[in-house]
Amino acid sequence: SLAGKTALITGSTSGIGLAYAKTLAAEGANIIINGFGDSAAIEQERQALEQASGAKALYSGHDLTKASEIEAMMQEAASAFGGVDILINNAGMQHVAPVEEFPVDKWDLIIALNLTSAFHTSRLAIPYMKSRKWGRIIQTASAHSLRASPFKSAYVTAKHGLAGFTKTLALELATFGVTANCISPGYVWTPLVENQIPDTMKARNMTREQVMNNVLLAGQPTKQFVTVDQVAAMALFLCSDAAANITGANMTIDGGWTAQ
Ligand code: NAD
Repeated sequence: SLAGKTALITGSTSGIGLAYAKTLAAEGANIIINGFGDSAAIEQERQALEQASGAKALYSGHDLTKASEIEAMMQEAASAFGGVDILINNAGMQHVAPVEEFPVDKWDLIIALNLTSAFHTSRLAIPYMKSRKWGRIIQTASAHSLRASPFKSAYVTAKHGLAGFTKTLALELATFGVTANCISPGYVWTPLVENQIPDTMKARNMTREQVMNNVLLAGQPTKQFVTVDQVAAMALFLCSDAAANITGANMTIDGGWTAQ
């Protein structure tokens, strides 16, 4: 049980982040969700999390591409709960373009959100974790923290950087009861992935099935999408005492992608 613990999950208004929030709430943790979206829908999710956990759920809608907003979010967490025991850095975005055409502002945003935000949340969460002699820092990295694809330079750079940052965190925190690990999914079935199917069908003159198997799942040997619940189950395991000696690891959930 995670009763009495507080989990902050960045980018948790949809997809993988929301699944983490639901899974940790079911174990009784206080939850802080973050991300963008329709405010009525977010409020509904927040209430559902409180019902599931019997604990508190707070929404903090700050833009994590900005250090000052991350500081404000971490301040809200400290005021409400004293601090964060479980930090999941999950917010992320993608842009696809060749390097020489890559918009400079998109590069800066992706590095800020997918990499630098994890530095800021971590540096602000660590003192409390150290004082409690217990903590979990979990990054949603990606198969792209271990492998590259063309046209995703900012994303691949940020995710490789996140994997390196996590190893350093693990070493610095090793004697404080605080672990730091990456979870690296392959293609996960989220609205983000589902929504690119119709356009890809048109662009490549393919059926839905062809897009799924020949494009999206081309590099995923199981030919199955990872589910958000499978990713969240790994996070819950990393929060358990059984995982106390797993630190600095990069846990792949990619249907065999990075075995190739
Ligand atoms: P998603 O688009 O469903 O969720 C992204 C979340 O981040 C949303 O809650 C969004 O509101 C939030 N967000 C976006 N910009 C933000 C900002 N500036 N500040 C704060 N929050 C912001 O995507 P997802 O598929 O659930 O992805 C979550 C994480 O998983 C990302 O880091 C992504 O790189 C990683 N990932 C996804 C896949 C996949 O196939 N879907 C695979 C590997 C890794």
